[in-house]
Amino acid sequence: MGEELVRSDNEPGRPLVVLDGVDKHFGSLHVLKDINLTVHAGEVVVVIGPSGSGKSTLCRVINRLETIDSGSITLDGQELPKEGRDLARLRADVGMVFQSFNLFAHKTILENITLGPTRVRKVDAKRARQEAMALLERVGVAAQAEKYPAQLSGGQQQRVAIARALAMNPKVMLFDEPTSALDPEMINEVLDVMTGLARDGMTMVVVTHEMGFARRAANRVVFMADGEIVEENAPEHFFTNPQSHRAQDFLSKIL
Ligand code: ADP
Ligand code: MG
Repeated sequence: MGEELVRSDNEPGRPLVVLDGVDKHFGSLHVLKDINLTVHAGEVVVVIGPSGSGKSTLCRVINRLETIDSGSITLDGQELPKEGRDLARLRADVGMVFQSFNLFAHKTILENITLGPTRVRKVDAKRARQEAMALLERVGVAAQAEKYPAQLSGGQQQRVAIARALAMNPKVMLFDEPTSALDPEMINEVLDVMTGLARDGMTMVVVTHEMGFARRAANRVVFMADGEIVEENAPEHFFTNPQSHRAQDFLSKIL
C-alpha cells in the first residue's frame, strides 16, 4: 500500500467525523441513543457489540443513508445537510464497504472502479483507468480487471469493493462487517488489505466481529449495546479489562 492512498489534506489528529448527541428511532424503536463520538484523522475505530445494537445504523447515519432525529453530525467541520448538492459532495468524502459487496454486476471490475471518479469526481477517463489499475494492483486483483464480478471469489469481490471506495479519494472509510459474508479462507485476504490501509494512516470506522483485527489495527474499540455506546477504550485495555457487565458478557461469548 502506498501513502498516496491517504489524502494530503488529512492532517493527522484533526476531528474528521463528529457525532454530537445523535438520536435515531425506527418507529417506537430507539436505535441510537445520544451518541457522542469523534473520529480523528488517521484514527481506526472498531465498533463491536451484539446483533441489533445499532452498529449498522451508526455507519448509515454517518453518510446519511439514514436521517437522524436529533443531534448533529459533522464531516471535517461541516454539518451534514439534509439533502442537495452539499450532501452529495460531503457523502463523496465517505467511502463505504458493506457486508454484501454490492458491485455493479453488468460492469467489469475496471468499470466498477472508474464509474464514481469519472461521473462524480469528473476525472478524465484515461486517468481514472490508470488510477483504478493502481488500486486493483494494491488490493491484489489487477489480473481480474476485465472480468465481471460473478467471475471473482467473494474475497476478490470485497477487495474490489474496497478499491472502488478508495478510488473516490475519501477522507474516511466505513466498513460494516466486511468479512461476515465470506468463506473463512477469504477473510484474511480482506483483513490484510484493511490492515494495510490502517497502517498507511487511513481514517477508518470498522464494524467487525474479527477481534484479531481489532487488536492489531484499532486505536480505539467502541462497544455498543441497545443503541448506546456503553464503553470505549484502547484495544489492549478493552479486551483485557472491560469495565461494563455488558462488555464482559459479550466478550465471554465471543472470545
Ligand atoms: P446491528 O448492525 O448492530 O446489528 P442495526 O443498526 O442493523 O444493528 O439495527 C438496530 C436496530 O434497528 C435493530 O433492532 C433493527 O432491527 C432495527 N432496524 C434497523 N434498520 C431498520 C429499518 N430500516 N427499519 C426498522 N428497524 C430497523
Ligand atoms: Mg449490522
